[in-house]
Amino acid sequence: MHLDFSPEDLAFQQEVRAFIAENYPVELRGKQDEGDELSKEDFLSWHKVLAKKGWVAPAWPVEYGGTGWSATQRYIWSEETARADCIRLMPFGLSMVGPVIYTFGTPEQKAKYLPRILSGEDWWCQGYSEPGSGSDLASLRTKAVRDGDHYVVNGQKTWTTMAQHADWGFFLVRTDPDAKQQEGISFLLIDMKTPGITVRPIITLGGEHEVNEVWLEDVRVPVENRVYEENKGWTCAKFLLAHERTGIAGVAASKRGVEKVKSIARAEMDGDKPLISNAFFKRKIAELEMDLTALEFTELRSLAGESAGKGPGPESSLLKIKGSEIQQRLTELTLEAVGHYGAPYFRGFGEGDNEHPIGPDYAHRAAPTYFNTRKTTIYGGSNEIQRNIIAKMVLGL
Ligand SMILES: Cc1cc2nc3c(=O)[nH]c(=O)nc-3n(C[C@H](O)[C@H](O)[C@H](O)COP(=O)(O)OP(=O)(O)OC[C@H]3O[C@@H](n4cnc5c(N)ncnc54)[C@H](O)[C@@H]3O)c2cc1C
Repeated sequence: MHLDFSPEDLAFQQEVRAFIAENYPVELRGKQDEGDELSKEDFLSWHKVLAKKGWVAPAWPVEYGGTGWSATQRYIWSEETARADCIRLMPFGLSMVGPVIYTFGTPEQKAKYLPRILSGEDWWCQGYSEPGSGSDLASLRTKAVRDGDHYVVNGQKTWTTMAQHADWGFFLVRTDPDAKQQEGISFLLIDMKTPGITVRPIITLGGEHEVNEVWLEDVRVPVENRVYEENKGWTCAKFLLAHERTGIAGVAASKRGVEKVKSIARAEMDGDKPLISNAFFKRKIAELEMDLTALEFTELRSLAGESAGKGPGPESSLLKIKGSEIQQRLTELTLEAVGHYGAPYFRGFGEGDNEHPIGPDYAHRAAPTYFNTRKTTIYGGSNEIQRNIIAKMVLGL
């Protein structure tokens, strides 16, 4: 992979910049930067603009609706969208179940689900984790019993992100209780409106409703909704997790985050000098930037491998660990920079709210964002588990 942009790449960069400037929804501008909670409509409004342009799924093969961009172009795309602070699209359809369906699905499944993922008509959620089965996912107990041309599903999933909005969910279920753990699991696509499904909110530390419990009681799922062979769902599950981890690194967004921390540290005072001139604070920012640059080059190597036909391998665990740690360090530095202005716990102005926030605008979401970002080292497979994977698969220990 060449890191110098060719004239074509530079032209592409200009095209992307112009497209974002003209088409990024006006009502979304600045919303993410200010840390406002984003609604389903917010996510979908940008999604639909990109779908119309044919740019919503750059990583997909062209035959299924991908853009056919080179690794460099995809890198430029993620840089430019982060630079303009465009909201990140929901990954559950585009980066998770979509690739599973075009890799393992039947022609009918591809025809039914892929166009609706691209258009944004279907919002997906991920039903993997259960109470007691997170890191040890293969121990999951939600069971699906065959009844004619249906499965009858019973069990409980947890931490299901954005399930409150979901039209469809992809679920791991146990179809053979007698087989070895990984060998008795199947991958089902379930319409979230099916009778027997209950979604209950879990409110997280930052006060947000992002995650849920999903209960399944005698939920009837057509057998044709199973992806790949019965009891071979673990193959799809592992494939999906590797895709999930690559996207989690969030390098471009963190680069923007560093610039934001620097601008806060220029505005905040440390005694009679701007905080940015404090040697200790400056060192922390410099260390963060160095780690981020190293991560960026690792991600570029991984992208280059992908463009040469290699799928994301165990190195995606490394991207997940470093990317998530950097995201957390950014929120720690932001909280440190805003100091006591971070203490009042504002969640924006709700209807009927007549209190005024204390301190500068950039301070209001510092604490909730700090708390919310504790999740990044847990989800997508916790960082301890990623270290185990590296020890085994990369270092051969
Ligand atoms: C905000 C958020 C959103 C999520 N969204 C989804 C979603 O949409 N869909 C979904 O299916 N799941 C989701 N998850 C669940 C997530 O994948 C699990 O939380 C994660 O896999 C960890 O599982 P656990 O919570 O059961 O913790 P446990 O597995 O019980 O782990 C507890 C602690 O022990 C450590 N540990 C466990 N086993 C080992 C080991 N072998 N070696 C070393 N350390 C170990 C872990 O690292 C962790 O620190 C989400 C989680 C969060 C926090």
